[in-house]
Amino acid sequence: MPTSGNLTRRQRARMHDQPDETLLELPEMESKKRKYTAEEAALRRSEVSRRREVQRKQKMEQIHRQTINKLLKKQASRKTKQEEAEESADLPLPPPPPSLLRYQWTKEGTTLSIPEGMTLYKGQVSSYPEERAKCEVPGCTKVHRYRIPKTNQPVCSLEHYRALVKPANSVA
Ligand SMILES: [Zn+2]
Repeated sequence: MPTSGNLTRRQRARMHDQPDETLLELPEMESKKRKYTAEEAALRRSEVSRRREVQRKQKMEQIHRQTINKLLKKQASRKTKQEEAEESADLPLPPPPPSLLRYQWTKEGTTLSIPEGMTLYKGQVSSYPEERAKCEVPGCTKVHRYRIPKTNQPVCSLEHYRALVKPANSVA
């Protein structure tokens, strides 16, 4: 025996001995289909259109996501110049070609970098150590490091500087 939930209104009415003659009996084939009232039909239509709207939005979101993913992939495969610059910035920089005279003091010694195209006064560079004046203090063979301003005498140290300057001071 079928439960009342699966029956049409008419069948239900008949079951309860309350015939409703306003309802027509449906042929067996169609009785399984749901018979909608105008209200139900409207409700169903709005439900269908609501589901279509949801599906449409989901589709839109899917397309949106796919578009974003495509763009992200493109960005990942094609590095911008800025990104490359940032990456190479982590690597130690090679020494720049000298554009200025550069004097470097390292453990190995000192080096002087001369920019290409620049010439030094050869006389000064090549002959500097040989022609460097010796200390003028008698008996001292050291190379001068200072000059006495007034007399322009070369001296090797502050000590010998004083040795040469003192007599002049004592006179004054
Ligand atoms: Zn000296």
